[in-house]
Amino acid sequence: MKAHHGMYIGGEWRPAAGADTIEVVNPVDEQVIGRVPAGTSADVGHAVRAARAALPGWAATPPTERAEKLAALRDVLVARKEEIAETVTAELGSPLPFSQAVHAGVPILVAGSYAELAATYAFEEKVGNSTVYHEPVGVVGAITPWNYPLHQIVAKVAPALAAGCTVVLKPAEDTPLTAQLFAEAVAEADLPAGVFNLVTGLGPVAGQALAEHPDVDLVSFTGSTTVGRRIGGTAGAAVKRVALELGGKSANVILPSADLAKAVNVGVANVMSNSGQTCSAWTRMLVHTSQYEEAVGLAAAAAAKYGDRIGPVVSAKQRSRVRSCIEKGIVEGARLVVGGPESPREQGYFISPTVFADVTPDMTIAQEEIFGPVLSIIRYEDEEEAVRIANGTVYGLAGAVWAAEEAEAVAFARRLDTGQVDINGGRFNPLAPFGGYKQSGVGRELGSHGLTEYLQTKSLQF
Ligand code: NAP
Ligand code: MG
Repeated sequence: MKAHHGMYIGGEWRPAAGADTIEVVNPVDEQVIGRVPAGTSADVGHAVRAARAALPGWAATPPTERAEKLAALRDVLVARKEEIAETVTAELGSPLPFSQAVHAGVPILVAGSYAELAATYAFEEKVGNSTVYHEPVGVVGAITPWNYPLHQIVAKVAPALAAGCTVVLKPAEDTPLTAQLFAEAVAEADLPAGVFNLVTGLGPVAGQALAEHPDVDLVSFTGSTTVGRRIGGTAGAAVKRVALELGGKSANVILPSADLAKAVNVGVANVMSNSGQTCSAWTRMLVHTSQYEEAVGLAAAAAAKYGDRIGPVVSAKQRSRVRSCIEKGIVEGARLVVGGPESPREQGYFISPTVFADVTPDMTIAQEEIFGPVLSIIRYEDEEEAVRIANGTVYGLAGAVWAAEEAEAVAFARRLDTGQVDINGGRFNPLAPFGGYKQSGVGRELGSHGLTEYLQTKSLQF
């Protein structure tokens, strides 16, 4: 994938308004692999105008035709799957097989699901003596993070387009090449000019300009709680719609009846995957006191097996952030059983898979999102305490429950203040609503719930 020097606006690559660029760095060898333009508020202005101009035509396009365009987009993602995987690996550092299966594979599923939903969703319904129309919200400003570069884009753009909205995307500065590749795919799928626009750039400049733009009707943001809070405030002051997918500190609750080895092994794999840079990762493992030391031993062995095969974290900044969290865990008295703050390699932003035992619920590593390959194992005495600990953070994004009988796990899961829970290692479902309780966010992504975020209702009475 060769970097573009311009912005994708109004169906073409246009020169950026300013001359500043962003260097894209490969986290494995720290080499610069490309440069993209650092957008300004002028670029954002051009892109929003293009999206506004395209809105009436796209909103009036019958949903079945929008579905065909989304299916064409899905087909391009399929055809360019290998290039997508290689691009994500180059700028995020994830091992290629993971990029192929997840970073390239999941967006294909999600784009396909919205091609189908656009064709089948009831955009019109009868309620008593009313007809209710589900109409597009308008111009969407999408701001995405680097951790799942293409998934985060498709999880916003596909439902927005299915709904009849038009989009301006500001992707993460660390992974802009994947976003440019997505813009190429949009062009190749022959979507009408202006329905999707891309402005690369820095968060506090291009991102903020997009979030504050008066002609954006809905801001959809995924990233840190700090930035999300600010974007929510800006949207609130302007009385515009906002969707926020923020952080998580999810609990993996292993009940005493569970298959302990399986629960621990799947739990460790979940945290280490993508080098721990997953907002829904089960970073707190809750184990009954009677099985605690056995679980710690199993987790230590499972984590040690990964070595540096998990890949680096995305940037030097992220590595130092994760390291300082690990150091804080040690200082606060948690027992380091594997890993630690030292880098396992001379070059690249690698962090060793790290497991802490004797973590108490109030420690920083049990409360704050680390976003690195770090697992905290917490002890509970009884089910009531497990519920209290699991719910004892400001977050509520995801979680897992393990028990011998599904019914026991379900009963426990119903007591969790969290948006998504996997029962005994349940499989990923691209149609299941994803999003947080509490400070993990506002709104839902994926499936029909994700689609309704981009719709507003109009009712006519007869
Ligand atoms: P972030 O700063 O919140 O970045 C997310 C997106 O928002 C990026 O596109 C970013 O641009 C943009 N942005 C930053 N400041 C902005 C502002 N003032 N106005 C508008 N947009 C702005 O997150 P990060 O720095 O990449 O990661 C920090 C932490 O956030 C992580 O350690 C992790 O805890 C959490 N995080 C959560 C998720 C999730 O999926 N929930 C994903 C990634 C990170 P830039 O790329 O230029 O910063
Ligand atoms: Mg940032």
